[in-house]
This record gives sequence, structure tokens and C-alpha cells, in this order.
Amino acid sequence: MPELPEVETVRISLEPLILGAQIMEIRELTPGVLYNWTGQPAVASGRIVSGLRRRGKYLLLDLGPDLLLIAHLRMTGQFRYEEQPPEWHKHDHIILRLEKSGTGPVWLVFHDTRRFGRIWLLRPEQVGQLAGLAFLGPEPLDPQLDSETLRQRLSHHARTSLKAALLAQTVVAGLGNIYTDETLFLAGINPQRLAGSLSPDEAGRLLSGMQKVLQAAVNARGTSIKDYVDALNVRGSFQYQLQVYGRAGQPCTQCGTALAKTRLAGRTTVYCPRCQPISIKMAWTGQ
Ligand SMILES: [Zn+2]
Repeated sequence: MPELPEVETVRISLEPLILGAQIMEIRELTPGVLYNWTGQPAVASGRIVSGLRRRGKYLLLDLGPDLLLIAHLRMTGQFRYEEQPPEWHKHDHIILRLEKSGTGPVWLVFHDTRRFGRIWLLRPEQVGQLAGLAFLGPEPLDPQLDSETLRQRLSHHARTSLKAALLAQTVVAGLGNIYTDETLFLAGINPQRLAGSLSPDEAGRLLSGMQKVLQAAVNARGTSIKDYVDALNVRGSFQYQLQVYGRAGQPCTQCGTALAKTRLAGRTTVYCPRCQPISIKMAWTGQ
């Protein structure tokens, strides 16, 4: 599932290709993927893409000051950039035709095999109705975010595991299963710890581990384990730097102990029992 580094990579790959381009047409091949909340069918036609932003795992295209196209890739959503009229592939759901000044038409195809991905067209004042976006926590790579803020936000989830709290998106935005496990390993903190039990020092290690992992993954253009590619069909390479995710039973890269596996928040969670120790009184007990 695309997480912050993958969505950021899609954004970076698309920005030079479609920033300033004019949307000529949005074609829906599959109903139920595009939600137009403006009430106007062709509202995006003629609009210029004036900005590409990311918030958590959401990609936001500014179409002038009063209209947004927001995409959430969920499990398997992808954007495919084409400079020739696109051939139809199975699981292509939405096609945007754009015009760039001086270069002719280009196309952006939204492709999604599992079909959980969504696109919304809405006004800025409607963003608050998109619950997943409205309640997002701060961006983990924002230099303004400090570890005491992180510790306080985690304390609002005092009775859940640290893993579950980091996956919730309301504490910090953009982490999924891969980068949560990698972050906690780098920070040397056990994922079964209670979210409200971190000391200031541990919160500092958590934030710096998170920022190191996410920045390294953005630099590596994301993790391509299954089907993730950017808008130019380029795979990421962070899968070659993974320390714990997908490595249960294999030796820890730091101490050689076999990595342990458990299930938290419904997700497989891998950690090193030696580098990420836990005391029983600090553990989430599964209720
Ligand atoms: Zn270890």
C-alpha cells in the first residue's frame, strides 16, 4: 500500500509533467471511483493545474484557488502518465486529458486493480467533510514538529499499542505498516508498548527515527514490493534497505537475533526482541 514516501514520489514525478497544464476532459470509465462533490459535471474542464501537494497519503491537485482534485491510492491505485492516446488496460478507471502549452495533449490515467482508490473533486471549504483528510495529524517531515508534540499526541491514544497509534493517521500523517515497523526498529522501541508510555527521550528517538526512515525512503523513490510504481512506471528501491518489514525469522541486521513477528491493529508486525525490548508493565495486552 502506498505510504507517505510513495505518494510523495508520485507527486515529485508528476509535478514537472502536469504543473501548468490545462484539464480538457475527465473521463470516467468505471463509476464509483470519482466523487464530484461540486454538483457541476464538467467543473474541472478548462482548469489549470496550479499546484501539486501531498498531505499524509493524499495527493492534492490545486485547480485554481476554488477547486481541488484529491486522490487517495489506498491499496493499489496508480497514476500513469502518457504522451500518446492511452490504450485501454484492464483496471483503468479514470482518464484525464490535459493540454500543455506548446506540446499538445497528454493523459493521466488512474489505474487500480483492487479498486479501493478514490478521487474527489471538491471546493476547498468541503475538505473538512473528507474525514480521513480533516483529522490527519501533522506531517512527520515538517521541521516544525517536535518530539514533545508527538509524545502528547500519542498520549491521547494511551490505551492502545504504539503500532496502532502510529497507523491511525491522527497522531502523525502518512505512516503505514512498512514505515511504522522500520521507524520503531530504528528508534529501538517495541511496537507493543503502550502509546502513552514513552519518555521524552524515547519520543525524541521515535521522531528522529521516523524522519530518517521516511527521508531515506523518499530519496529511494519509495518501496516497490508488489505493484507500486510512480507515474512514469519507475519502481522504487527502498525494499533493499528494509531492516525488519517482511523479515520475520531472519537475523536482525544489528545484533543477529531472529526477528519476531506479532499482530497489532490487525497488521503483521516485525521487530527485534533484543534491540526493541519491552517490560511487561508497559505492554499493550490486547484488550
Ligand atoms: Zn537486534
